[in-house]
Amino acid sequence: MNYKKVAIVTGGGSGIGFAIAEKFTQEGIFTYVTGRNLEKLQVAAERLGANCRPFQFDMTWLDKIPDFVNQIAKEHGRIDVLVNNAGINFKNGMLELSDEDFQNVILTNLTSVFSLSREVAKVMVENGCGSIINITSMTAFYGIPKVVAYTASKAGLQGMTRAMAVDLSPLGIRVNSIAPGFIETAMTSKAFNGDLRRKQKVLERTPMGKMGTPKDIANAAYFLASDNAEFITGEVIRVDGGNAIGF
Ligand code: NDP
Repeated sequence: MNYKKVAIVTGGGSGIGFAIAEKFTQEGIFTYVTGRNLEKLQVAAERLGANCRPFQFDMTWLDKIPDFVNQIAKEHGRIDVLVNNAGINFKNGMLELSDEDFQNVILTNLTSVFSLSREVAKVMVENGCGSIINITSMTAFYGIPKVVAYTASKAGLQGMTRAMAVDLSPLGIRVNSIAPGFIETAMTSKAFNGDLRRKQKVLERTPMGKMGTPKDIANAAYFLASDNAEFITGEVIRVDGGNAIGF
């Protein structure tokens, strides 16, 4: 079957990634969803239907990324959209955070995004077009306690979006990021984990007074993936109910 576009959504088995994959598949984009947990991916793929293919892949396997990308490129001859969504958080105070835990977050959230984007861009270049979307965070804009490693990774990813955009846009590949505010997913419920003060603080500084849903991010991702965004590159779209500009 000929699909209008082929996409990869990393971490597409749950939360924001799942909502993005759902939007893409509903719009006729053939979408690979990746993650470490095969069972979770299979459940997601069943819900997403025939336009979805689950692919168990751990983003930290850097040396296996070229093979992973080649396999997908071979199946369809193209990759049009890459959403770098997979990510982990690790909540710990600055004084308690080990080097190993810091490195692990950077490897998952930043280094792997570089490696995967480079390999996917090589495929996109052959077709002269593509859209890469990086999922960053409010931590790229202001300081949140106890998430130093996560903040370093997401602020790095925000900067890398600009640098990738200047390198790749002349080749027809647009690179943008979406910075979600606080979105109802497993990750935030773990981060709030009984910390009601933290949640209250989030809501107080969000002018819209509520948390977002994964669908809010999916709509922005679909826009950036589409031809409606054909002159947009190096941009960050905050989807945050105003959280980043709130007092
Ligand atoms: P989830 O924990 O639901 O999703 C994270 C996804 O990443 C999971 O599907 C997980 O799958 C996958 N993942 C984690 N590590 C790896 C790995 N090493 N290799 C492959 N896949 C991996 O959280 P969210 O949906 O909330 O988060 C999605 C993205 O959005 C993250 O980048 C997060 O930082 C970002 N974000 C979320 C916000 C929110 O409020 N929820 C706010 C700002 C940013 P598996 O476990 O199967 O590997």
